[in-house]
Amino acid sequence: MLALGIDFGTSGARAIALSEDRQVVAQGECAYSQQTPQIWQESLFSLLQQLPLDCRQQIDRIAINGTSGTVLLCDRAGQAIADPLMYNDDRGKSILPQVREVTPSHHSVNSATSSFAKLFWYDRHLQLLAPPYYFLHQADWLGFLLHGELGVSDYHNALKLGYDVQHLCYPDWLSLWVDGKANRIILPEVSAPGEAIAPVLPKLCAEYGFPTGCLVCAGTTDSIAAFMASGASHVGDGVTSLGSTLVLKLLSDTAVDDARYGIYSHRFGDRWLVGGASNTGGAVLRHFFSDRELDNLSRHIDPQQESPLDYYPLLGRGDRFPINDPNLEPRLEPRPEHPADFLHGLLESIARIESIGYQRLWELGASPLLQLYSAGGGAKNNQWTKIRQRHLSVPFRSPLHPQAAYGSACLALSSL
Ligand code: ADP
Repeated sequence: MLALGIDFGTSGARAIALSEDRQVVAQGECAYSQQTPQIWQESLFSLLQQLPLDCRQQIDRIAINGTSGTVLLCDRAGQAIADPLMYNDDRGKSILPQVREVTPSHHSVNSATSSFAKLFWYDRHLQLLAPPYYFLHQADWLGFLLHGELGVSDYHNALKLGYDVQHLCYPDWLSLWVDGKANRIILPEVSAPGEAIAPVLPKLCAEYGFPTGCLVCAGTTDSIAAFMASGASHVGDGVTSLGSTLVLKLLSDTAVDDARYGIYSHRFGDRWLVGGASNTGGAVLRHFFSDRELDNLSRHIDPQQESPLDYYPLLGRGDRFPINDPNLEPRLEPRPEHPADFLHGLLESIARIESIGYQRLWELGASPLLQLYSAGGGAKNNQWTKIRQRHLSVPFRSPLHPQAAYGSACLALSSL
């Protein structure tokens, strides 16, 4: 009995098949430089093809994670009727004042990149002449290709659409808005991530060798799949992602939602996954140093010595978390003569911001941080890890697996 996890990330897709004791049995990957539904479809079937036949024949559950906030609008046959809107597409900013007339004030969907802003944009800019049209997240559409049920989602992907994860329903303002469209737009029905949705289509079972009882489960988002892959599972477990930006996620007994700081909570079983993202992070490091320089210069840093440099490393003005100030200026002065000292100041300062971030989550009502996993490109920097340990004073744990596909496979396993 095996479970298959499939991850559609920002630059490529990956599949990992797991045994019941969470051992990796097989994997596949493919990169894409462009994103269209056709490329997603080809990638999905290429991943399945890459798995050995005897592996496919033992797969009982499949779960897919898509990139959070990547969405598309389809006709009743499941064909995309326009280009998908990617996670970072902010064309919604042109219609934000109109979006705000529909949504409650301070709601997290009041952002140019929210899924609701994208749906609103589709509604304003496309000619919807042959309704109904199905609004789907990337993971929903990929799941549809496997099980054939159109209009099914999960409450992780649906959060940015405005789905109420406290009460497990669409809120009145969103239902009213859709009702006003006179059945032109259909929102997906929302399941719990990992819940079995439907069997794999018979023609795909015949083509790829999946057993007839193989079920496709409701999926999740890329960052939650990465959280699950880390092995974090207890209240107080945090995962810091040191990628282009600094992203904090903390498993908490209580939910925290504070639009001022861009903090929102995903439902995670009977707990909450509280998240906050700062604009500081690896993109600022990359602005000054190549990855090789980061590696080499870091070796000259004594991590036990605190750098006196107090920066707020940003590429442009403004941050929301942990300091909510749209006019916050990048602070990158004074600049020491030696590049290793400059880098030390940057790493030290990002570590301070990370520590303030977890403190902020706690002040706003989340459970306290008890232990930490690290992910992303900066996690491999040992000196930085030691600097961060000085600031955070909690045990650091090694992630179980670095790939989000592993997390999705764990999600699929959980429904066995
Ligand atoms: P993303 O997926 O968000 O683009 P990644 O997880 O791939 O990011 O990480 C890339 C980031 O990691 C880059 O911004 C880079 O500055 C940073 N990075 C790479 N190597 C190091 C290093 N040795 N020390 C610190 N940061 C690093």
